[in-house]
Parts: sequence; structure tokens; C-alpha cells
Amino acid sequence: MNLIESVNPFNALVIGRVKESSIDEVHEAVIRAKKACSIWGGTGLEERISLLEPLIHKLEEHRGELAELLVTEVGRPILEAEGEVRGAMDNMRVHLVHAREYLADQTFLEDRGVTHTLRRVPWGVSAVISPFNVPLNISEWGIIPNLLCGNTVIYKPSEYTPLVGEYFSKLILELGLPPGTFHLLQGDGKVGERLIHEAVDFIWFTGSTSTGTHIFEVAGKRFISSLMELGGNNPTIICEDVEISDDLISNLIQGRFQNCGQVCSAIKRLYVHQSKYEELVAKLAHRAQALKVGDPANPSTEIGPLVSERQLLLLEEQVADAVAKGAGVACGGRRSADFPQGSYYLPTVLTGVHHGMRIMNEEVFGPVLPVMAFNDPAEAVELANDSLYGLAAEIYCNNEAIIDYFTGALQTGRVAVNMPRFAGLNCPMGGMKKSGKGRQHGKWVFEELTQIKHIMTRS
Ligand code: NAD
Repeated sequence: MNLIESVNPFNALVIGRVKESSIDEVHEAVIRAKKACSIWGGTGLEERISLLEPLIHKLEEHRGELAELLVTEVGRPILEAEGEVRGAMDNMRVHLVHAREYLADQTFLEDRGVTHTLRRVPWGVSAVISPFNVPLNISEWGIIPNLLCGNTVIYKPSEYTPLVGEYFSKLILELGLPPGTFHLLQGDGKVGERLIHEAVDFIWFTGSTSTGTHIFEVAGKRFISSLMELGGNNPTIICEDVEISDDLISNLIQGRFQNCGQVCSAIKRLYVHQSKYEELVAKLAHRAQALKVGDPANPSTEIGPLVSERQLLLLEEQVADAVAKGAGVACGGRRSADFPQGSYYLPTVLTGVHHGMRIMNEEVFGPVLPVMAFNDPAEAVELANDSLYGLAAEIYCNNEAIIDYFTGALQTGRVAVNMPRFAGLNCPMGGMKKSGKGRQHGKWVFEELTQIKHIMTRS
């Protein structure tokens, strides 16, 4: 029996162990989930809602334990961790409302006396494979809409957050759903790979572009449909007519350094007009180095550790590559000496960067912000679009014509204008290019997670 250790990235201590799911357990979960499809898929929406709704109260009841797990397993600062738990509850409320709105039959009459009904029906068994970075909230995004749609769910959390996955699953299993409706599997990519199984009908995946590309290829050959929410290398553009105000700096700091920079839609590349470059870099570096790096359990901490030593080593390589190719370090640029046991990296601002550096053309999951100058809007768009990714962008500009040009030309699933980006659940979220396939949230996730059936009856 293999065990997966959960390690606290603050002090490298093991905080728990879970059993890795075996090949037989994966197979058995798929078979049981398949058998349960007719029962769960056959229940009415109102019954599914009434079975799932108590989860909101359970999350509320256990919010302290969940937030603590996010602190000890992910290293999320406690105030952010509490926000993530509140987010999961709020999201569930919205999903329940949306389910009623978007899963209802649509009926219309046509000529020749025929009534047409369009019904959204479940795919069947849905595998939900989730990442480490926002493990509770993102798992809710996958599991709850799937269950509301009538899919049975096999959930595999990240191997870096098995305890959050286990706790959330325990609360779901306590709801008393019909047997076989929901399963938890634990393990790394090996176990995830086994879930691309002939008898699985749909894969809801959130994670890196490299993993998503692999799953998409294998699943495609087996005719398994999927929703892919993948990586981002998100540009932010600041034009010459923008004042480098405290508010702007706060938006940028929050946009890059929240969750220690481990957010898919975080600002990953910053482009600023040449005339504002020096002022912006100086103000950013000043604020970034004042961020309080510390124990994530302490409410005053703003920057905790990265989730693992592995992520820290990758980040070090990406920064070293930039520095070797001529980047300047305005602040940070190294591990924190104050927390030698933890996977800490200091908030970093890099200057003099270019697109030949990994820091600009790979997704960087850590507290590092590279800043590059541009001369005119066309160059800014060319730089922003020079990426495999297309998840999100922000622009700061006061000229309507240039704003129109940017919002039209940027190849990203979302563009925020003169404001920080946020994941509003009423609007579609997803990426262009290699940032994903399909959209979640709002009506879009319910369309993705169901198939449409056309029923004709004589009126
Ligand atoms: P990852 O791709 O390493 O792992 C994600 C999940 O896939 C994990 O559960 C992992 O065990 C599993 N997995 C790994 N190999 C697999 C395989 N061959 N078959 C099946 N499953 C496999 O990603 P991560 O490091 O956990 O998460 C960070 C990434 O997720 C970043 O790229 C981030 O941008 C992305 N992300 C995207 C969104 C979004 O909404 N677009 C949201 C959050 C995170």
C-alpha cells in the first residue's frame, strides 16, 4: 500500500498521510459510478438540489478546520484561506440558483403542430481532476455543477492537497447521496491517468497546460469529452496616460502576489509605457519588499510559502535564467533566509526582461513580477499576444479608442479594463489558445457538463 504524505510548506513537517488509490480501486470506482448513473441522472433537479444544499451549512460549520488545512497544506495566509472557504460557500449558492435557471427544459411550438423540448441531460460519469493552488474553491467549481447536472463524480484532488480533498469529500459523502454517486480517489498523475478510462464519459480538468494537453489527446482518442481550464501567462498593460497611483500599485501587488503568486489568472507579465517605466518599477519594488513574509497562520502575514520545494526549485530556475540573460532584480530575487525550513521566496520585481527569457514565455507560479517597457499600443499588443497562453489580461488606459483596440486585439478569454480581474460566477471563465477549452461558470458550465436532447411531441 502506497501512502501520500501531506507536507506543511511552512516547516516541511508531515501533517498527514492518505492511502494512494490502487489500479483496482480506480476501476471499481468507475464501475460503481457507471452503475449509479441511471439513479442519480434519473433524479429530478429539485431532489438533487435538496440533497446538495446542506453542504453549504456543513462548509459553514467546518469553516475553521478547512481554513486551517488550507494554511497548513497549501501555505495560504489565514485571511486568504478564510476567504477561500467563504468563496466555496458563496459559489455553491450561485450554482444552485444557476442550476434551476439553466437546466430547465426549453419548450417551443413550431408549425405543423409539433412541440419541441430541449432537455439538458447528463453525460454519465464525470472525472473531476483538480490542481493544488486553490484546492477547495476549484474543487467546488468542478464537483457541484457536475452533480447538479446529474453526472456521477469521481474526484481526484492534487497529490499536494490530499487532506483538503479528503475533508471536502467527507462532507459530500455525509450528504447521503445515492450509493456510487460520488467517489474520492487519491494519488498523483498516475492515478489521474487511469481516470482517462473507457467507461468515463467526461473529464473536468483544471491544471497545467502540459497535463491538460496530454489528457485532451488521450481522452480525444477515446471519444471522452472534456472541459479544460489550464495555465495562464497573463499580461497587464499600462499606458502612458495612466497615473502611477497608490491604488494602481495596490491592484498590481494584489494581482501578482496573492496566494504567493500561485493563481492561474494572476498578473504574470507587466508591460508599461516607456515614459512610466522607472516610476512604476520604483513604486512596485517599494511596495513588494514591504509585504509581510511570514507564518501563514499569522493574520498579519501577506506572503506565505510556495506549496512545495519542487515549485520553489522551478521558480529559482526561471529567475536564474532571466538574470543570466541580463534581467535586473529591483527587489527580492532569492529565497527568504528567515524561513530556511519552508519553501519561501521573497516578493520579486524583475527589470530589463525580454521574450527570450523563460520568465516571460513560461507560466511562472510564484511571487515574481517581470516588468517590460513598450513604445506604442501596437507593440504592447504584439508583446501581450506573443504567448502560447490566452487566459486573462488587464489594461490600464484612459483613451477610449485605444481601450477598444486592446479589448478587440488581445487574445485572452477575459480582459479587465482599469480594474483588477476577478472570477465572477455569472460570467464565463476560460482560456483561448493553450489556456483551455470550453468555459465554466454561469450558464456555460451547465452547457459543458450536459448534452442536449431534442424531444418532439404532437401538440
Ligand atoms: P498539474 O497539471 O500538475 O496537476 C493538476 C492535476 O492533474 C493534479 O491532480 C495531478 O495529479 C493531475 N495529473 C497530473 N498528471 C496527470 C495525468 N497524466 N493524467 C491525469 N491527471 C494528471 O497542475 P498543478 O501544478 O496542480 O496546478 C497549477 C496549474 O493549474 C497552473 O498551470 C495553473 O495556471 C492551472 N490552473 C488553471 C486554472 C484555470 O481556471 N484556468 C485554475 C487553477 C489552476
